[in-house]
Amino acid sequence: MNGLVSEITSKLDTYSAWRRDLHAHPELGFEEHRTRAFIAEVLDKAGLKISAPIGVTGLVATLEACDGPTIGLRADMDALPMDEGNTFAWRSKKQGVFHGCGHDGHTVSLVAAALALCERKQRDATIHFIFQPAEEGLGGGQRMIDEGLFEQYPCDAIFGFHNMPLLPLGIGTVRCGAGMASFDEFHIEFTGKGGHAGMPHQTRDCAPAIAEAILSLQSLVSRELNPQSSAVVSVTQIHMGKTHNVIEKSGWLAGTVRALDAQARRQLEDGVKRVCSGVAMARDVEAEVRYERRFPVLVNEEKASLTAKNALLGTLGENNFDASFPALMASEDFAFMLEHCPGAYILLGQSEGPDQPMVHHPEYDFNDKLIPYAAASLIGCVDQFCKEHHAAKTA
Ligand SMILES: [Zn+2]
Ligand SMILES: [Zn+2]
Repeated sequence: MNGLVSEITSKLDTYSAWRRDLHAHPELGFEEHRTRAFIAEVLDKAGLKISAPIGVTGLVATLEACDGPTIGLRADMDALPMDEGNTFAWRSKKQGVFHGCGHDGHTVSLVAAALALCERKQRDATIHFIFQPAEEGLGGGQRMIDEGLFEQYPCDAIFGFHNMPLLPLGIGTVRCGAGMASFDEFHIEFTGKGGHAGMPHQTRDCAPAIAEAILSLQSLVSRELNPQSSAVVSVTQIHMGKTHNVIEKSGWLAGTVRALDAQARRQLEDGVKRVCSGVAMARDVEAEVRYERRFPVLVNEEKASLTAKNALLGTLGENNFDASFPALMASEDFAFMLEHCPGAYILLGQSEGPDQPMVHHPEYDFNDKLIPYAAASLIGCVDQFCKEHHAAKTA
């Protein structure tokens, strides 16, 4: 085991207790007041400079060096609006709120990294520990950026990680380029003319338009996109009518678009609008298309992903880097930060056995044994970046 991993493992009892306390007291996006207070208290005591709230409940803790580059390390803090299915002692005490994505573990891992770096006598880089709120669909990362995150805390590079139940504990991966998909939502309201179900000729029925739109949307990816692009269009909601003998005046469908490159994303946005408007026109009803761009594609910068890869090889060991792990069609708010600052997003395995629940599953739990690997990997990124920075300066 890497020296840093075992050093942090020696304090695992404390970190595990902190993680389980956060797990028992989960907070939804932009409501992470208790979590924020916990981080501020621990890191203030350790001598870091703690920012005023940024992005409602976000915070930046800074460890300053006199010289060297500035690096951002980021974790998310929010829980999901869902019930927990676990029965262990540290299960959520709040009904309908659950740390089902492991952000409790991300928070404590970043705190552990900060504490380990505080203990070092020599400081080669200024480090901003960025704790972001509201990752789960609410855009907390963007909110921090809007409130001046990178103007107040400029970074030469930024790194973050997510736990990955599909990989075994001790294994890590990072991709160069697109690592996670963009995420958009659409809602299409069709309006015609209602009436008696036995006399459809006196109505303008939206039902055929909705049905045709669903089928036509399916062919956008298969017939219009470059087959080498990866993208998904899923219709996830359909609604029309309340009873069997009335043709309702209107109905709607809704769904999501995911893509691994910006061009495919744009193409599908245009396609969704065109198909729904076209089908509506063919069926003599109106379509009101609401298309909302949510998260961009998560793009790991080339140089930073190589830095992160080398950091993982050094921290986890040569044989514990998974070079073949695919890009994910899930999305991630860290993508906003990567649009403003070069960096990379690492995935770290946490499973100890087959069929471990995936994130967002009611029986998921963050594996505390990942904390030392995660903290050491983030510190590994700092050390590797400093090494490269220094080499470039002296070259
Ligand atoms: Zn999640
Ligand atoms: Zn997550």
